[in-house]
Amino acid sequence: MIRIYKDFPLAKKNAFKLDVKAYCFVSLNQKKDFLRLPKLIDLKSSPVYILGQGYNTFFKGDFQGIIIHPNIKGVKIVKESKNFSWIKVAQAEDWIKFVKFAVRNNLYGIENLTLIPGSVGAAPVQNISAYGQSLEDTLVSLTAYDIIENRFKKFNKRDCQFSYRDSIFKREKGRYIITDLTVRLSKKPKINLSYNSRYGGITDELKKFSHPPYSIQDIARAITRIRKRKFPDWKKYGTAGSFFLNPIVTKRQLLEIQKRVKGLEYFPLENENTRSRPDQPYAKIPAGWLLEEIGWKGKRIKNVGTSPNQALVVVSYGNATPDEIQDFTQKMQSEFQKAYKIKLIPEVNIV
Ligand SMILES: Cc1cc2nc3c(=O)[nH]c(=O)nc-3n(C[C@H](O)[C@H](O)[C@H](O)COP(=O)(O)OP(=O)(O)OC[C@H]3O[C@@H](n4cnc5c(N)ncnc54)[C@H](O)[C@@H]3O)c2cc1C
Repeated sequence: MIRIYKDFPLAKKNAFKLDVKAYCFVSLNQKKDFLRLPKLIDLKSSPVYILGQGYNTFFKGDFQGIIIHPNIKGVKIVKESKNFSWIKVAQAEDWIKFVKFAVRNNLYGIENLTLIPGSVGAAPVQNISAYGQSLEDTLVSLTAYDIIENRFKKFNKRDCQFSYRDSIFKREKGRYIITDLTVRLSKKPKINLSYNSRYGGITDELKKFSHPPYSIQDIARAITRIRKRKFPDWKKYGTAGSFFLNPIVTKRQLLEIQKRVKGLEYFPLENENTRSRPDQPYAKIPAGWLLEEIGWKGKRIKNVGTSPNQALVVVSYGNATPDEIQDFTQKMQSEFQKAYKIKLIPEVNIV
């Protein structure tokens, strides 16, 4: 069924819980509804935004276009082998619940992506990743409705053009509506404890309550504990998690920053044949750490602040307005640029 609303309130559907409205809001709960869409609304003459749960979306004000909110549910094991299960999951399923389902069933591959708020359909858009795992590690294929061609398309992993917090769906915003995805999870234990940071490694956390060999439930529990310390409770406070991406820098830029910030961790880029040239992308550096160095950890201006535990996490305390959030994050950007000569790029979708 397709439902169309005018002046729809979005306060419960955006990361910062802002009291904004959409001029037109369309919800659909069956795949066949999509093919009727172009007959019912003119998708070509207004801006279109596809909205899941809104945890990676910041509305600068009322949205003067059409919001499409697909609402298709369902989880199904579609194929099994001795070592793997292939699971097809519809876009409106809750990501956190889906990870719990996998962990409960001892299916390995997404347990490090525990406690990332949002819908399953948004996960491929920025190729969600955390603690050494990314969605692309397990994604086999997905289906999306192409608004321009008015038809469904299948995307294999390679078609999705995944990279760090990026995909074709992020670059061609508003064109593809993901309706379901298929992941391949391992029945054989396959754990990834590689992640380590100044905010605590997985192994350090595991040692506090368990001992090897660690189960998939142990891993999910360790990551849940780390994340609960790092992020504010998003049910209570408005937050989109990390507001900015970790910058990608050249070797020359890295060396300059390391002169200023001693011991700065960095993550060399994988699969990039650029290591030898000092002016080519070389490594990802932690924006949170660098913001902390210039006084942005736990900073607060009026109703907006950064988390006391992670300077990259912007939080709305109370009734922050879109302007307050925008002023605050632009100040973060300009002070970062002044200090390090590098531009911070928002991870959050600013609409
Ligand atoms: C506390 C907190 C912690 C977080 N930690 C992480 C983390 O560790 N790693 C990480 O990667 N992210 C993290 N995030 C970001 C966020 O959880 C993810 O981006 C998540 O996928 C957002 O899902 P959503 O449904 O709320 O997306 P929305 O905000 O609704 O949408 C996000 C983007 O996806 C598009 N989109 C949504 N649904 C569809 C669809 N069906 N088809 C096509 N496009 C669609 C939107 O147009 C938009 O571009 C965190 C956020 C919070 C609040």
